[in-house]
Amino acid sequence: MKLHRPAVSVYTVPTDAPEADGTLAWDATTVVICEVSTDGTTGTGWTYGPAAVGGFLDAFLGPLVEGRSALDIPAVHDAMCRSVRNAGRPGIASCAISALDIALWDLKARLLELPLARLLGTARETVPVYGSGGFTTYHDTHLAAQLNGWVHGQHIPRVKIKIGEGWGRAVTRDLARVHAARQVIGPDAELYVDANGAYTRKQAVRVGHTLAEHGVGWFEEPVSSDDLTGLRLVRDALVCDVTVGEYGYDLPYFARMIAAGAVDCLQIDATRCGGLTEFLRAAALAHAHGLEVSTHCAPHVHAAAAATIPNLRHIEWFHDHVRIEDMFFDGALDPTGGVVRPLSGVGHGLTLRTEEVEEYRVA
Ligand SMILES: [Mg+2]
Repeated sequence: MKLHRPAVSVYTVPTDAPEADGTLAWDATTVVICEVSTDGTTGTGWTYGPAAVGGFLDAFLGPLVEGRSALDIPAVHDAMCRSVRNAGRPGIASCAISALDIALWDLKARLLELPLARLLGTARETVPVYGSGGFTTYHDTHLAAQLNGWVHGQHIPRVKIKIGEGWGRAVTRDLARVHAARQVIGPDAELYVDANGAYTRKQAVRVGHTLAEHGVGWFEEPVSSDDLTGLRLVRDALVCDVTVGEYGYDLPYFARMIAAGAVDCLQIDATRCGGLTEFLRAAALAHAHGLEVSTHCAPHVHAAAAATIPNLRHIEWFHDHVRIEDMFFDGALDPTGGVVRPLSGVGHGLTLRTEEVEEYRVA
């Protein structure tokens, strides 16, 4: 079963409100979709990133994978990774490899007429999710409505909000929003925060002590993900979990992060790190070090693979991407009750609504 040259499409979707975290603001999200076929069967993968990812995938990786075996994904993955030596693996190249690798796994499961989770082998039937959004741009009633929808509407007992507004220059508002979030979700739901690297080391420790008073157990990227020493310092000073890993573009990145003692729960993004092939390797690396894994963004990319790893904590039900994946695909999952069940259908179970989303197409 030989692969045809992949088809690539790029879509840009405006956000439903202005969005920002501690260190970045945006008003649209671009999704790059890769469809790869053999004779008669097609697999679909995607990543979130600049439109240039689509151009790189089409021009650079497309000819490389054409004619290779659809069943031997590690061989195709290895060829792709070797080919980008001079282009540079992190960033655009790795996002392109990721989208194609995700499509290859979907294709293989469809060729074998299996749910992707069954092809990989399941460790669990249900996958816990946490609601993620709470952007710093939301006014108080918007934040309350979003959190209320997850915890009391969909009965998802775990939520995350963004803090670190303005590169850590608005700590009073950060903590007021954390307090407000706790009031909305009640004492029993888990409350997480993500500073997106906005704070300095000692500032993060000071903020973290107050977060503990609000029962926050998850402090994501308290300082820059690149400051492994600082992450270790914050981790040692606080009772809450320090979590990082969303900018991991290859396996050695995660190895360095774990070796530095920088993380309590490793976050992995299959749309960046090299697809599901590399995702599963990074999850195994975490397991070997006694760490749990949580996935970053792109919930429907991760649901099936998350069902296969024993050291899973949960997957991120990220507002922005949930909205896009619900809009773009038939077969989107329902998180009501705080879990999804990614075991029905074949492949990852999603089908692209090509005609319905044409208005967002940019390439
Ligand atoms: Mg984050």
